Amino acid sequence: MNKKTIVVGAGASGLFFGAAAPASAGGDILILEKTDKIGTKLLMSGSGQCNLTHAGSIKEFLSCYGESGSRIRKCLYRHNNLEYIRFMESLGVKTAEREDGKVFPVSMDSRDVRQALLAAASGNSVTIMKNSPVKAFKTIPKGFEVTVSSKGPGVSDAAGERTFTCRNLVIAAGGASYPSTGSDGSVLQILRRDLGIAVTDLRPALAPVYVQDYPFAELSGISFKNAGLRISDSQGKKIREASGDLLLTHRSFSGPLMLNNSRYINAGFRVEINFVFPYTVSSVLSRIKGACGGNNKSAVSFFAEEFGLPKRFVSLILGSCGLSEKKLSSMTGCEMETAARAFAAAVFSVSGTGSFREAMATKGGVALDGVDFSFMESKTQKGLYFIGEVLDIDGNTGGYNLQFAYSSARTCLDAIYT
Ligand SMILES: Cc1cc2nc3c(=O)[nH]c(=O)nc-3n(C[C@H](O)[C@H](O)[C@H](O)COP(=O)(O)OP(=O)(O)OC[C@H]3O[C@@H](n4cnc5c(N)ncnc54)[C@H](O)[C@@H]3O)c2cc1C
Repeated sequence: MNKKTIVVGAGASGLFFGAAAPASAGGDILILEKTDKIGTKLLMSGSGQCNLTHAGSIKEFLSCYGESGSRIRKCLYRHNNLEYIRFMESLGVKTAEREDGKVFPVSMDSRDVRQALLAAASGNSVTIMKNSPVKAFKTIPKGFEVTVSSKGPGVSDAAGERTFTCRNLVIAAGGASYPSTGSDGSVLQILRRDLGIAVTDLRPALAPVYVQDYPFAELSGISFKNAGLRISDSQGKKIREASGDLLLTHRSFSGPLMLNNSRYINAGFRVEINFVFPYTVSSVLSRIKGACGGNNKSAVSFFAEEFGLPKRFVSLILGSCGLSEKKLSSMTGCEMETAARAFAAAVFSVSGTGSFREAMATKGGVALDGVDFSFMESKTQKGLYFIGEVLDIDGNTGGYNLQFAYSSARTCLDAIYT
């Protein structure tokens, strides 16, 4: 079968591509999807509520993709968050901005987002073929040959495979996180093998952080509105400082602060957490010293009230220093210092970050140096495009990954159809 454009992957970016395609072009677009489902990761996103994007100036988005933000500036600016929200509304998906800036469908149901995109793609006469795992690419004069292995009904021929040809080949096959959704990163090996595309190493991003002797299992669910984080490597060299919301889970540190910074953290690193940010060890110490004279309060009550911390958490921290039974007035200078450090500079040794099964995004993928972001096109293979998470782009939690899926899909459509 010959098509003008073949898209590999019917996930978020493939669906944005089909839904936003010009109606006149849709009949010539074929989306090949490996699994028997469409948009599986999109359905899971935002715990099924689908955090579509973030509010605010698109300029602020650039710092939310690690070091890669500046590379995708053009594509984000050209098809920004406001345009994306308007596009979803034009498809009948009403959106709402939460207090924290995250934008969701009003229904808080990702099924509505997928349904709207599917309906738009179908209205544009785009064909989506499920059970069609792409296993090989070949360059041919004026385009590409795409081989799909036989899987499921309707795709097998006598040789157990089927080939398609196209002028434009759009890779929208996602990253490697949550491999059960179909995005397992295997397309990257095929791109490298068949088309010589450079690929960077993959690692989980937006993953929880595990530390040795994690003490907070019983406090799972407690969160800190704004905690501080300092990451150092195994030699003690500072890698990064950040602040943000922290969540204690049963086995790990999570929440936006840890998820967004997990891309910088490796096993053997040290994380220093400030639970009372922006206070520092010395400012905590001065507050204790200022309050201790004749103060008969228990240390637990003092810390809980003074720094707005949950009592269970304060008891555990002071307990670990042997200070949970202390009255404030009876604390020695040394004990005060120990307590100040435990709240403002608690140090943990990292045992690892969550695996691809837990990570919400993938760091690594198609190497950015080989891509022209004005068109999302390969610099070495004319007519070959990359959109979404298959690229070495991983956004912070908060809607930034779906925004990139949208912006890159629209930029690619511009390149092919205008
Ligand atoms: C639990 C979870 C929650 C998330 N929540 C949010 C959120 O709220 N907001 C946000 O912005 N981001 C969120 N993300 C990230 C976001 O879902 C992804 O970044 C986004 O789906 C990437 O879109 P994509 O099209 O690049 O890849 P995917 O959506 O992963 O789609 C890729 C598709 O390609 C198919 N495919 C792979 N290989 C082949 C092949 N060889 N042949 C044919 N098809 C193939 C796959 O089966 C898949 O259907 C979340 C991710 C997870 C895992």
